[in-house]
Amino acid sequence: MIRNIIFTLPLLLAFSFTSNNNKFEDFVESDIPYLKELYIDIHKNPEISLMEKETSKKLANELRKVGFEVEENFGGYGVVGILENGDGPTILYRTDMDALPMEEKTGLPYASKVITKNFDGNDVGTMHSCGHDMHMTVWTGTARAMVERKDDWNGTIVMIGQPAEEIGAGAAMMLDAGLYEKYPVPDYGIALHASPTIPAGKVGFGKGYIMANTESVDIKIFGQGSHGAAPHMSIDPIVTASMIVMELQTIVSRNLNPLDDAVITVGSIRGGTKHNIIPDEVNLQLTIRTYKEEVRNLIHKRIKEICDGIAASMGLDKSRWPKIVMRDQSTPANFNDGMLIDIMTDVSNSLIGKENVVAVEPQMVGEDFARYGSTKEDIPTAMYWLGTVPKERMDRYISGEYALPALHSPFYYPDIENSIRTGVKVSTESLIKLFNN
Ligand SMILES: [Zn+2]
Ligand SMILES: [Zn+2]
Repeated sequence: MIRNIIFTLPLLLAFSFTSNNNKFEDFVESDIPYLKELYIDIHKNPEISLMEKETSKKLANELRKVGFEVEENFGGYGVVGILENGDGPTILYRTDMDALPMEEKTGLPYASKVITKNFDGNDVGTMHSCGHDMHMTVWTGTARAMVERKDDWNGTIVMIGQPAEEIGAGAAMMLDAGLYEKYPVPDYGIALHASPTIPAGKVGFGKGYIMANTESVDIKIFGQGSHGAAPHMSIDPIVTASMIVMELQTIVSRNLNPLDDAVITVGSIRGGTKHNIIPDEVNLQLTIRTYKEEVRNLIHKRIKEICDGIAASMGLDKSRWPKIVMRDQSTPANFNDGMLIDIMTDVSNSLIGKENVVAVEPQMVGEDFARYGSTKEDIPTAMYWLGTVPKERMDRYISGEYALPALHSPFYYPDIENSIRTGVKVSTESLIKLFNN
C-alpha cells in the first residue's frame, strides 16, 4: 500500500504539473486574439515621448478591467497599477510607452500613418520602431495572466507604464514623482526589450552589464573668423575642431584600461557657411557609452583636458576655450542581477525549451530601466530580450540575402503572435517563480 503511494504520488504530481501547464498554455493561446488586436491598435496610433496621453489611458483601462488599482498621469503620462494578492514580495514589472519621430516604411497593412507636431512645431512621422508597442502588449497579457493565476502566487505586483524612455527621461520622472514613497518599494524589478536579431519564439539573457550608460555631450569650439585667403588673421575653429575630433579617439585607445568598454562617437560637426570664410565657431555633438562609473569620470576628465589643451595650443584666450555641456539625456548602465537571470533562464528552459533560450552579449545601447534599481534602495533588476524577428525574415537573413532591420529602423516589425505568446509565457512564469522564491 505504502509502496503504491510512493510510486503514484510523483506520477500524480507530474500529471497535475502538466495539466496546470497545459491550462496556462491554453489560457495564453485563447488570449492571443485579444492581445493582437490591442497590439495593432497601439501600433497604428503611436505617440512620441512626453505625448503618450492616449496610449497611457489604454494601458490604465486594460489594468482596471482585470482588477488592478490604477493611478494615471504619475510623472508625466506614467501609469502605476497595483495588484495586492496576500503576503509576499513586491515585484515591479515595467513597460515603456513612447514611439519615435520617424515615418514607418514597413508597408504593412496596419502601418502607422500618424503625423505628430513635435515640441519644435514640426510635423514628424511617428512609428513604434523600438518595439515598445510589443512591450505594452506583453505587459498587458502578463497582467491578465497574473490575475488568471492568482492562486499560484502571493505578494504585490506593481505594473509600471513608463513614458519618455526614448529621451531617457521617463523613469526619472516617475521616481521623482514619488513612486517609491507612495507605492511599495519593490524587492525585484523586471522588464523586457524586443530584440531585432533574435527570432520570435526565443528569448535572450545576459548577466551583469547588458546595456551601457549613455550620455549626450555638446562642445562649442570658438575661434577668430577671417577671410579664407587670410588664415594668418584667424584662429581657425575648423582646424581646432578637427584636432579635437582626432584627439578624442585616443581616449578609448590610450587612456582606458583595454579590458574596460567605452564608445566615444562624434555624431555631428557643424560650422561655417561658405568656401572662403573662416568661421568663428564650430559645434560638436557626441554620444558617450560606458558601463563603469570610474570609466565615465575618466572620459569626462580627458575630454576637458583635450579641449583645453588644443585650444591653448591654438592661441585662444582661456575665456574662449571650448564650452562643454553635458546634456541631461543620460541613462545609467543596465546591470542584470545574476540570481534573477538564473531564475528567468531556468523558467524559460523548461517553458519553451533550452534551444529557444540564447545567451546575449552586452551592448552599448542604453535604456533608462536601470534607474528603478539604482535608487538608494539598490533593487535587483533584470531585463530580458524577447525575440521578435518573423521567420520569413530570419530565413532570408540566414541565407545571406537580407540584412535584418535594427531597432529604430523604419522597416522593423515583430512577428506579432509568436512574440506575444513567448513574452506572456516567460514574463508570467518568471514573476510567479519570483513570488514563490
Ligand atoms: Zn529605442
Ligand atoms: Zn526601446
